[in-house]
Amino acid sequence: MYCPFCSAFDTRVIDSRLVADGGQVRRRRECLECNERFTTYELAELVMPRVIKSDGTREPFNDEKLRAGLARALEKRPVAVERIEGAINQIQNFLRGNGEREVQSREIGEAVMRQLRDLDEVAYVRFASVYRSFQDISEFQEELNRMKSDEPASG
Ligand SMILES: [Zn+2]
Repeated sequence: MYCPFCSAFDTRVIDSRLVADGGQVRRRRECLECNERFTTYELAELVMPRVIKSDGTREPFNDEKLRAGLARALEKRPVAVERIEGAINQIQNFLRGNGEREVQSREIGEAVMRQLRDLDEVAYVRFASVYRSFQDISEFQEELNRMKSDEPASG
């Protein structure tokens, strides 16, 4: 792995740990030439199902799109990067885990919403309002009520 600072080839791993529920390996490296330190993430590349869009056309699963959607919903929200990476892993595991070669884009949206619900209520509402494109304010209110009623009763 080249050093991103001086392009020297010799870098040394100084720390290695599992992150995102074991789905990734995070490595701290040190350049033997300039002594700068940097971090790399390693994850297994697995085949994702193709996505069937609402108009019936197919496209390859796009990891960047998924990340961008989550990032938009979570903008300025107090959620740790590790938890977001964990959520992305959960979504990908879910999509691979159903064993289908193709998946409806709707299923991806639902999987994202399930994760956002656990991560951050505001982010969830943001995503849901765009994703479900609520027709009017009453529909939006219904969704909020549904969320509230799902919460465990506290004494
Ligand atoms: Zn270097």
